[in-house]
This record gives sequence, structure tokens and C-alpha cells, in this order.
Amino acid sequence: MSSASTAIVWLREDLRLHDNPALAHAAENYDQVIPVYLHATDDHDDWSPGAASQWWLHHSLQSLQESLKHIGGRLIIRAGKPATSLLGDLITDLSVDGVFWNRQYTPIAIRRDQAIKSSLKARGVVVKSFKAGLLFEPHEIHKDNGEPYRVFTAFWKRCLQEGVNRQEQDAPESLQVPRKIRGDKVDSLSLLPRIGWDKGFYEQWQPGEAVASQLLDQFIDGAIDHYSNDRDFAAIPGTSRLSPYLHFGEISPAQIVNRVLRSHAAESRSAERYLAEIGWREFAAYNLFHEPATMNESMDKRFANFPWQQDTKALQRWQQGMTGFPIIDAGMRQLWNTGWMHNRVRMIVASFLTKNLMIHWLEGARWFWDTLVDADLASNTLGWQWVAGCGTDAAPYFRIFNPVLQSQKYDPQGNYIRRWVPELTMLDSKAIHEPWKSNVGLDYPEPMVDLKFTRERALTTFKSLHEEKRSM
Ligand code: FAD
Repeated sequence: MSSASTAIVWLREDLRLHDNPALAHAAENYDQVIPVYLHATDDHDDWSPGAASQWWLHHSLQSLQESLKHIGGRLIIRAGKPATSLLGDLITDLSVDGVFWNRQYTPIAIRRDQAIKSSLKARGVVVKSFKAGLLFEPHEIHKDNGEPYRVFTAFWKRCLQEGVNRQEQDAPESLQVPRKIRGDKVDSLSLLPRIGWDKGFYEQWQPGEAVASQLLDQFIDGAIDHYSNDRDFAAIPGTSRLSPYLHFGEISPAQIVNRVLRSHAAESRSAERYLAEIGWREFAAYNLFHEPATMNESMDKRFANFPWQQDTKALQRWQQGMTGFPIIDAGMRQLWNTGWMHNRVRMIVASFLTKNLMIHWLEGARWFWDTLVDADLASNTLGWQWVAGCGTDAAPYFRIFNPVLQSQKYDPQGNYIRRWVPELTMLDSKAIHEPWKSNVGLDYPEPMVDLKFTRERALTTFKSLHEEKRSM
């Protein structure tokens, strides 16, 4: 019998070798290390990964398998049962001494991990978890009176005071994996779609740690210098597009922050702005941790009785990018075709759904959840509730984005619209924002609502909700 010590590293949303504290700890302290990915049935409640996330996961797992092979390791995939049973089976089969993972912060993950920790400890296994996916864990940042922050600027100011740069963990140089371990194949998880709607994804994305690192370098060598201005313009590749890599942990926020702070841009206004966006990601996780019910409910309780409209047809037109408003349709089609949408356009389409159509933000959040490659429970919840005006530090109710004005301002030449709504390519940069005013025959829908009427309706309804507060 071998006396070699053996550790499992349970990989979840940390699909990387660099700056992976759980992996580094196991590699340093144990003779044999088994990197494991569990495709478990108890992982996600109602928020099990959507189709676009599953596409990403498939390729990300394949990429991780390759990286592990280069250092003599192997990714063991097990599927099918609750995570406790899958881990339990591995421990029984392999006489494992320690199990290590990097912490996740959604209510679902916290509940699951606590249960697993107790059950493993009861079996005499060493269990330890690490901070890896955030710069600050939610309990680390609070007001002087111990209360959580509710306003982003105050939260981020506190984070900056505490210091955002971090020590990174090196990737292990080599791993020893016990030889005979049964594992499932990535293909057997059936993560890829049966109908080939994902063609556009292959043109846009290459999941994996190495590409994440290259994208960050490219961003720092180029777009970061103009980020604070360009980030709002839909047709300009002015942002880092690292969101899916961050969600799946193919790059850590610490790696991003450290590299930005070491770069030529470190002191610039653009870098400050970029780091603040990483801060929004932190704030989203922080909020969901402190307000776990918000993944399914409005944070502002007055919204429990809000007269949201039930309108399946209108919802479908929005989903399909057939509203008759070019910037909305461009965004929704970019989302469908590539699994990603520009942040400014996310705000415009979300405002249109929740304010002009007065459809519940959860309907929008669910559609994004299924179609975004960067779908992230915390950021998606925060984004939707921010726009709908029912979340933490949310946009004021009277901020209703006018899709025509937004389009004229943030896609002035109409190039973003032309890219995603080919029916409108013949219109010039003035006419393209309001095709219904043009005399050209177009194979494009008329606007599905009157912007003025729906804006007034939203203002009146939202206002009455706010007056309720005062009379309460
Ligand atoms: P950059 O501008 O390059 O920013 C760098 C990183 O900062 C991003 O990768 C992301 O991790 C983080 N970040 C930037 N903006 C935000 C933000 N507003 N909130 C939280 N983190 C942010 N982001 C997701 O990652 N997953 C989601 O499911 C998601 N849903 C959203 C839903 C709505 C309605 C809205 C308005 C925003 C949502 N966002 C979400 C936030 C934002 O749109 C994306 O993070 C951003 O567009 C990703 O592009 P990027 O990587 O080029 O961003």
C-alpha cells in the first residue's frame, strides 16, 4: 500500500492553474494531487447554467485538461449525483487525505459547501477553502458600525483604502496524479447544443486561461488608454471582454488588478475607471451575499406589488430583436449570436424591457442567464435591479433610457446597428436610429410601442410607488 499523501482539489469557477490558491496549497503539501470537476445535480437550484454558459464550460474544461496535461496532471470529471456523493465516492475509492477548494459566494454555493465541509470533516478528511475569486470577501468590507455598504462609491472607496493589489500564487510546475482513476469525458456532460446555434460563438471566443491572459495583455497594450471614453460606444472594441473568463475563473481579479497597476497606464483616469468596473463585480458579489433573496426578488420590497405586465408576445419580440428600435434589436441579436452584449446596450435593452414594456426584470434576467456566456448570478441580478430601479444603489426611477437618443449618442455612425441589423444597412447615419421616419421600403418591423406614451406610463407608475414610501 502506498503511503503517499493524496489531495483532491475541487475546481469550480476557478478553472485556471495560475493564482489558484487551493491548487497551489495541495501541490505544495501533498505528494499526489487530483484536480476534480464535479458536474453535480445539486449545484444550482433554479439557476442552473444556461445554454451559453454550458457552451463556455465545455471548452473551458477542455482547455484546462490540456493545461493540466502539460504539467503531468489530469482533470478528473465526475457527473450525475449531488456533489457530496460524488466527492464521497472519490474519497472512498482513492483514500484521500485532504480536500481543497476556492470559495464561491452565491447563496446556493455557500449552502452546498457548508454541508460538504461538515460531511468531509466527519469522515476525518482535512478540508480547507481559500479566497480566490474576489479581491475582498463580503465579510471583509463593512462600515465602521459593522453594517454592509449600500452605495457603490462608498464601498469601492473603502476597498481602495484597504489596498486592491494582491500576492499571486504561482502555477504548480508539476503534478503527480494517482494512475488509475475513472473519470467522465467532457463530451459525456452534453454541454454543447444539439442544434447548431453556436456558430457565432466560435468566431468570437476561445475559452481558456491562456487566451484570458493574452486578452488582458492586449487590452493593457491598447484599449485601456481610452477606456473611460470608449467603453460606452457600442461599435468600438473599447472594453476588455474578460467577463466570461472572470466568471469561470480563467483569470483572477487579482491578476487583472496587479497587471494594470504594474502597467504604463497605472496612474491614468482610464485605469482608475477600469478598476472601478472590477469593483462593480466585487460589489455585485457583496450584495448578493448580504441580500441572498435578491436573486429571485426585488431588493426594494415595495416592488413586490408592482403592476408588472404579463405580455408573452412583447417579451418574445424583445428576445428576438424584433422590437422595431434598432439599438435594442442590435443588442438582442448580438447577444443571441455571440453570447455577449456591450454594457451600454445591456442597460438600454434592460430599461426598455422593465420601463417601456414594464415587464418584470426577472424575465430579462432569465433570458440573459440563458444566452450570456458571462452569465453571473451576482452581476446579472445587480445589473437588472439597478436598471429597473429596485436594487441596491439603483438608478433613479425617472431614468428611462430613450433608445433613440442613446443610439444617436453611443452609436453615432450606426455601425453597431449595421453590424447586427443588416435590414438597415442602406440607411445613413442619421436615418438609421429612427427607420420609421424614412421613406425607403424596409423589411424591418415598425416600433412595437410608442416611446412617449410608455415613458409617461412608467413614470406615473414608478412615481406612485415612491410616493407610497413617503406616506408609509
Ligand atoms: P469591462 O468594461 O472590460 O470591465 C471589466 C470587468 O469588470 C468585466 O469583465 C466584469 O467582470 C466587470 N464589470 C464591468 N461592468 C460591470 C458591472 N456593471 N457589474 C458587474 N461587473 C462589471 N456582467 C457579468 O459578468 N455577468 C452578467 O450576467 C451580467 N449581467 C448584466 C445585466 C445587466 C442588465 C447589465 C446592465 C449589466 C450586466 N453585467 C454582467 C455587467 C456588464 O455589462 C459586463 O460585465 C460587461 O459588459 C462585460 O464586458 P467586459 O468584460 O468587456 O467589461
